[in-house]
Amino acid sequence: MAQDDRLRTVDEQLSIVLDGIGSIDPIELTLLDAQGLLLAENVVSDVPLPGFDNSAMDGYAVRAIDTRDAGPQRPVVLPVVGDVVAGAKSRSGMGPGLAMRIMTGAPIPAGADAVIPLEDTDRGVARVAIGRPVHTGECVRRAGEDLPAGAPALGAGAALGPQQLALLAAIGRDRVVVRPRPRVLVLSTGSELIEVGHRPSFGEVTDSNSYLIAAAARDAGADARRTGIVPDDHSALLDTLESQLLRADILVTTGGVSMGAFDVVKQALSEIGTVEFTRVAMQPGKPQGFGHLGNRIPIFCLPGNPVSALVSFEVFVRPAIRKLLGKRNLQRATVQAVALETVESPRGIRQYRRGILHREATGGYSVSMVGGPGSHLIASMASANCLAVIDEDVTEVVAGSRVTVMPLLLANR
Ligand code: AMP
Ligand code: MG
Repeated sequence: MAQDDRLRTVDEQLSIVLDGIGSIDPIELTLLDAQGLLLAENVVSDVPLPGFDNSAMDGYAVRAIDTRDAGPQRPVVLPVVGDVVAGAKSRSGMGPGLAMRIMTGAPIPAGADAVIPLEDTDRGVARVAIGRPVHTGECVRRAGEDLPAGAPALGAGAALGPQQLALLAAIGRDRVVVRPRPRVLVLSTGSELIEVGHRPSFGEVTDSNSYLIAAAARDAGADARRTGIVPDDHSALLDTLESQLLRADILVTTGGVSMGAFDVVKQALSEIGTVEFTRVAMQPGKPQGFGHLGNRIPIFCLPGNPVSALVSFEVFVRPAIRKLLGKRNLQRATVQAVALETVESPRGIRQYRRGILHREATGGYSVSMVGGPGSHLIASMASANCLAVIDEDVTEVVAGSRVTVMPLLLANR
């Protein structure tokens, strides 16, 4: 526990957190399971793309030289000696002065060096009239023109989106080695908490934090699960954490980290000595716990108020998940927005206010605040789509001035 009265800055706490996050061994996954992850190997293609010379159009395979004298008034007429379809199992061939009807993607027959598109012919079946000269290589997709055999296809660190997965499939890779999704386990602590689906008796509160944090962790790219509720009880907490250690790359608890007599997470984990509880110069989210359990599994102990838990997740846990994923940018992108109202903020504290970010017709952004400073406001949190970040040295953001905004889930707006 920090002994001095000075609050630790957000940046100091974040760098302690990130220093305490290692890496996870790469694993091999099938292509769709690897979507969104980063490649952990250099992939070289052992086949060319395209795999063989093939036609770019439906038309007729010809020798360009045979069409040299063709013109609109004097078409060259060539006998059509067969069809080549996509999927043809063997390469066909044709002699000089002949043509073959060919489909898009079908292999160019031996003896041909160009394709004349259907629309530039009379579409004949037994013989075809060609009204213009064709140049060598016209409408032919060359083997290896996209990627030669032996060439690097994707490098370690490449993000696997739809196009990259398509490339891997095209070169015959059905599995790739990637940085895995960190397994995040979320535990809610508090003797007042009950599972969703039961009507709360007086004094009981339905656990919403584990859904909030597990969903936020999934959104950040983790494989996140809830492990339920633990009452404010030392041994119940320690037993549950112990039993989950082998299943997790990151543990996250909420609740029980303030100064109260029943703040069991803080009491129980402080005794173990590998988790540090500190106070960070931020609002909400001042009490924070971070450290390691078992075989160096990182654990985050977030405050229990839902807004505090979300802000703490955004500020500390999301960058940690992204570090484990191997991402280069650990922080959310921010935008500058015009504040639509005046907001006060204590000096020396970085304040995160829930807001609604609007895109103006002029192309810029504006932001209105929702919910006030109270960190218990779950319904207003659900109407927010961003956090406005008011820096430590700013005590007032005047309406009409600019403020830094961290968009959260823009996808659903
Ligand atoms: P704590 O940090 O344990 O002192 O909790 C602060 C406030 O957040 C209290 O009002 C708790 O009832 C509430 N709270 C704690 N955990 C949860 C949770 N998992 N879901 C909803 N509210 C919670
Ligand atoms: Mg509590």
